[in-house]
Amino acid sequence: MIYTDTHCHLGSVQFDRDRDEVIQRMLEADVCKAILICCSEHDLQEGIRLRNRYPEFKLACGMHPQSLMESDGEERFVHFQNAVQECRPDMIGEIGLDYQSHRHTKEIQKAFFEKQLEYACQLDLPLNIHSRKAVLDTQQMLRKYPCRGIIHSYSGSAETAREYVREGWYISFGASVLFPGARKPAEAVMAVPADHLLIETDAPYQSPVPGKRHEPADAVRICRKISEIKGIPEEELCRIMEDNFRKLFRE
Ligand SMILES: [Zn+2]
Repeated sequence: MIYTDTHCHLGSVQFDRDRDEVIQRMLEADVCKAILICCSEHDLQEGIRLRNRYPEFKLACGMHPQSLMESDGEERFVHFQNAVQECRPDMIGEIGLDYQSHRHTKEIQKAFFEKQLEYACQLDLPLNIHSRKAVLDTQQMLRKYPCRGIIHSYSGSAETAREYVREGWYISFGASVLFPGARKPAEAVMAVPADHLLIETDAPYQSPVPGKRHEPADAVRICRKISEIKGIPEEELCRIMEDNFRKLFRE
């Protein structure tokens, strides 16, 4: 059985101290496939190094909505395009809209989201989408482009999940399904057919234990919980999700 963590920040400074041990634990837990999300120069350098060492790891790079600043202009985007041309990622992300944080205006987020969507389509690369408190705007923008990919760390309603699936998106669930009595995530999991389902840790973030660092090895617990919710044996679910992963990257 092989588990796939479709969203982790293994290049993060939070893993600088013991990255090799974290990967060791991950591989021992059979979390052998992963998408390394890189949203900073540091993460990208580490990500490239890891992808060269572990061919089962995919590389994603993008301008995270929360990393944008009012002063960002065309230069920032050109810099991003250069990085993409150099590192040849397998995916663009995470990109999207985050209206929870009021530090960044909606306008600048939308402008950079749009540029990256257009660019990903040109390159024919799948996307890893971050959307927080911004469902309508996210959907509206995604519909403008012939794009595909993953809606990451899904936390919306069952109805919205169905809409995304109808439009061809994969829905990835994280540790939110582990919280005791988590009714809304369970309903959303039920609404997504297995052939559009994926899991992720978002490590080092989103640990189910407050204050603790999350690790890709924890993808196993998330998978187990989803197998329970959906009533699909874990082995079968892993196989289906591996297939989803392959289809996503057209392998
Ligand atoms: Zn993330």
